[in-house]
Amino acid sequence: MKSTETVMEEIWATIEPEKWNDWHWQLQNKITSFEQLERLVKLSADEAAGIKDALSKFRMAITPYWLSLIDLHNPECPIRRQAIPSHAELRQASCDMEDPLHEDIDSPVPHLTHRYPDRVLFMITYQCAVYCRHCTRRRIAGTTDRALSYQDIDKVITYIKQTPQVRDVLLSGGDSLLVSDEKLEYILQRLRAIEHVEIIRLGTRAPVVLPQRITDTLCMMLKKYHPLWVNVQFNHPKEITSASTAACARLADVGIPLGNQSVLLRGINDSSQVMKELVHKLLKIRVRPYYLYQCDLSQGIEHFRTSVGKGLEIIESLRGHTSGLAVPTFVLDAPGGGGKIPLSPQYLLLRTDNKVVVRNYEGVISVYTEPQIREEIPIKQQQGEREGIAALLAGEQVSLEPQGLTRKTRRKNK
Ligand SMILES: *Cc1c(COP(=O)(O)O)cnc(C)c1O
Ligand code: SF4
Repeated sequence: MKSTETVMEEIWATIEPEKWNDWHWQLQNKITSFEQLERLVKLSADEAAGIKDALSKFRMAITPYWLSLIDLHNPECPIRRQAIPSHAELRQASCDMEDPLHEDIDSPVPHLTHRYPDRVLFMITYQCAVYCRHCTRRRIAGTTDRALSYQDIDKVITYIKQTPQVRDVLLSGGDSLLVSDEKLEYILQRLRAIEHVEIIRLGTRAPVVLPQRITDTLCMMLKKYHPLWVNVQFNHPKEITSASTAACARLADVGIPLGNQSVLLRGINDSSQVMKELVHKLLKIRVRPYYLYQCDLSQGIEHFRTSVGKGLEIIESLRGHTSGLAVPTFVLDAPGGGGKIPLSPQYLLLRTDNKVVVRNYEGVISVYTEPQIREEIPIKQQQGEREGIAALLAGEQVSLEPQGLTRKTRRKNK
């Protein structure tokens, strides 16, 4: 019997490059069933059973390109673990939630989340080329292969048009580049026609899992809708291949700034060494590390979660030790819709009325003296625009308090 590896190699060798390089071919030939996977990847009996179980709950899709990056000799291969299901996905942790970030609750119109004051998340598709096993949106990613109808798109556009605070629109999903060029251009055109929409961002994993998607035609189209930003998701240095490098170069060459949003994943990238290699490689392909996400409380991904401390340790190992450009912001997306909260090692050791004591990455401790001149120079700002702590600091409110305090009910009852 032939080893799986030779079977794979034979298969790849028979595919003409025109097909391999065509993103439609890659999508048409995605591995989506256990039977297909079993033919291509050697699985132990245990693994096979686990995959079958997991597939009863969560969908699988793997592009031939992504599959070709898997190291078949290594069951812990980071490429493999991100794409091939496992029994661990059926484990329900006590804190797992269907929609931990309340994206559906903070939704004034279907397919749109309006959480922050000035920007919105528009889910323009629910499809992905590869269904990441660690996906935070697994409740919706892959639920339908139908593209959003023009009617649905128009409803979201109308909301954005009627909401002048929105100056930044994130097109995401699913994978925003799994939409056809025509539909994507329709959305971009309609958004650009809205005066208060200053920037548009695309969230996509296509350059990583389906680099063939980044065609010259797509880039020429995108270029017409600047200022446009693209955020991708590279999680491991192995994902930076000649194909993904070329895809990022094509986007960067049409003037699109690229950012990366990694997810901190146990056994995949939860090491300072791996992360340092990743961020250095990203800068070489002109992708700026933007966020490092603490893994969310979505269902069936507890086995991917690390402690928050691990993320802080990674940031500690990067900040100061390497280019500031290479250091992402470590964020925890607060369960319940609180949004992204930046977490950082402590550099501020002490603050008194006129001195600040800080430490650097080497452990050097320094004192900074605050200015003696302190009277406030009034700056005219519009009232009522601030919320939360910002409103406290501006003197617009004296306190923030949770709803339904018992103390308050007692007061009312009197
Ligand atoms: C992450 C996110 C954004 C964008 O946040 P930035 O910090 O501006 O990148 C907007 N809306 C939602 C719902 C998000 O989750
Ligand atoms: S590409 Fe993004 S939305 Fe799609 S499965 Fe992966 S993490 Fe989830």
